[in-house]
Amino acid sequence: MELSKEESILRAKEILGEAQNIVALLGVGTVMECGAINYLNNEVIYRIEDEYHRSPEEIMSTGFYSSRPDRFYKYYKDEYLADHCTPGETYTALKRMDDAGVLKACITTNTHGLEKIVGIHKVLELYGSRHLNYCSNTSCYKRFPLEYVENCKGVPTCDVCHSPIRPGIRLYGERIDNMVMTEAANACAEADCILVLGTNFYDSMVRFCLSHYEGDKLILISKHEHFRDKQADIVIHDTVQDILPKLV
Ligand SMILES: [Zn+2]
Repeated sequence: MELSKEESILRAKEILGEAQNIVALLGVGTVMECGAINYLNNEVIYRIEDEYHRSPEEIMSTGFYSSRPDRFYKYYKDEYLADHCTPGETYTALKRMDDAGVLKACITTNTHGLEKIVGIHKVLELYGSRHLNYCSNTSCYKRFPLEYVENCKGVPTCDVCHSPIRPGIRLYGERIDNMVMTEAANACAEADCILVLGTNFYDSMVRFCLSHYEGDKLILISKHEHFRDKQADIVIHDTVQDILPKLV
């Protein structure tokens, strides 16, 4: 029997109150609620294609980065990094769970680093982080903070060896770091409860993570309905930042 929204909230609260090993999967919805832009949104894609004559996906690819670093960085700084957001109530609720010792990992495809900003101890950033930039010269490999990249004119270069700086995010065409994938798989295999936040079961991160989870305490909170949502044990259609703080 399908639960009403109120019943689902109560049941989710009960599950989270008992769980000892929770893993949260954070999708684009969680950062959009904090002010980020969704680059998969059609209107955004049309505007980018109009202005840059390429899709966001083409620009953010390893091929474009290698062949046109100047144009890549123009887009990266003017669009991708201009996408400022700060952690909202979703993140403070997750931090409460972390402080209580029950949140074992946050797995995310967002690169904004909001989980780390609030101090969550175990964060697996599958697509890397805009905060972890490094010198492309492998014998140098100096690390640079986000502000350094933002403040450099044109293509940012290393202040030691003058090689171009590589953004810390995963570009299209690149594989996800194997070690991070293994850690994510292990965290999900050990979890007694998984929270899917601001995304759905069509998301490849969610599919990968859930293929390693055998439990029956899968809670989905997402504003947008999707036909695969019924795969979850508890489904709550609402903004994550309005619901999660009520549950923990
Ligand atoms: Zn260097």
